[in-house]
Amino acid sequence: MNVLVINCGSSSLKFQLINAESEEVLAKGICERIGIDGRLTYQPEGGEKEKSEKAMPTHTEAIQFVIEALTNPETGVVNSLDEIRAVGHRMVHGGEKFASSVVITDEVKKAVEECNDLAPLHNPANLIGVAACENLMPNTPMVAVFDTAFHQTMPPKAYMYGLPYEYYEKYKVRRYGFHGTSHSFVSKRAAELLGKAYDETKTIVCHLGNGSSVTAVLNGKSVDTSMGLTPLEGLVMGTRCGDIDPAIMEFLAHKLDLDVDGVMKILNKDSGVYGLSGGLSSDFRDLTDASLAGDKKAQIAMEVFSYRVAKYIGAYVAVMNGVDDIVFTAGIGENDDIVREQVCSYLGYLGIEFNTELNKGLRGKETELSMPGSKVKVFVIPTNEELAIARETLELVRK
Ligand code: ADP
Repeated sequence: MNVLVINCGSSSLKFQLINAESEEVLAKGICERIGIDGRLTYQPEGGEKEKSEKAMPTHTEAIQFVIEALTNPETGVVNSLDEIRAVGHRMVHGGEKFASSVVITDEVKKAVEECNDLAPLHNPANLIGVAACENLMPNTPMVAVFDTAFHQTMPPKAYMYGLPYEYYEKYKVRRYGFHGTSHSFVSKRAAELLGKAYDETKTIVCHLGNGSSVTAVLNGKSVDTSMGLTPLEGLVMGTRCGDIDPAIMEFLAHKLDLDVDGVMKILNKDSGVYGLSGGLSSDFRDLTDASLAGDKKAQIAMEVFSYRVAKYIGAYVAVMNGVDDIVFTAGIGENDDIVREQVCSYLGYLGIEFNTELNKGLRGKETELSMPGSKVKVFVIPTNEELAIARETLELVRK
């Protein structure tokens, strides 16, 4: 069964067509600058990447171009729309309403809309993607896969903030967590590598990308994660500050004469390793090059990043009263050997024997990074959120 996986943002739309049984990617690409002018990048498996300018006033035209590319007689990968049997949509925020993926119905769309408040930039865009697909494929089943769903197993002691209880009751202010699809996918694979049943493992997943989060997965369930009501909490990220003293907001507002939006922009877009490195870059490839060349701010940015990851790992070992394995995934986790070494340098007390030699230069490949006798294992496991969405979609559509 071919599943079209859609990740729809406000002005972009990423897609992959996946044969969900063989798990083969047939084609992938991205529509960018939707509502501005429009650009399609399309790549069939084993073929050349094609870029074209196309007018995309709305997401409906974008999906139309995606379908045209997928069914193109020369470079397409299917003969007709009928060969796309289901669509899996990445949804950012399911609030407390969705603890698993669901087949999209009118009721589901309404419930997602009710979560718009919690993710005002993402959820409306996700719903626009759903509507655009429905326009063009009215009879194709669609599935919603939520970033927050995996974390709905967190207990109240992990998700409640130390704020007046009524804000939780009235406005649902609590911790939700994100990257759930990735944390779930990677922790399941880690259990296979450990050779243990998923519901008998204690795993800490470090999803380190542009946005980064750490999750404690106890017996196959998320029991705590570092992101909160929004993705701003937790680790120091590319441009997001992560955990800070909330009083800094008032302090900066006064110093810089800013309103709330002005301060939030600083915390979301000007901070993290980008801000720490003095605006050098949010990309760890640039920071690594600069660090190795002796740039002090770049060195500090990387050290702060790794230190925060190690602190969360320590906290989650306490939360689970132990740990079997620690997993690195996403852009930085899969590729940055310096960050992995820095993080693991704090973890000797856990009984981790880190294979420094094997770690050097290792990029994007599933690998055990701990020594054979290490009490706690360390793995690099590449994440694959699109494949996870295709799997969930296949399972639900088959039912
Ligand atoms: P997202 O999906 O959140 O946009 P990714 O998981 O793709 O992010 O991670 C992107 C980040 O991964 C880049 O900003 C960069 O910091 C880091 N990255 C990618 N490749 C490498 C590499 N070879 N070495 C170090 N860091 C890398």
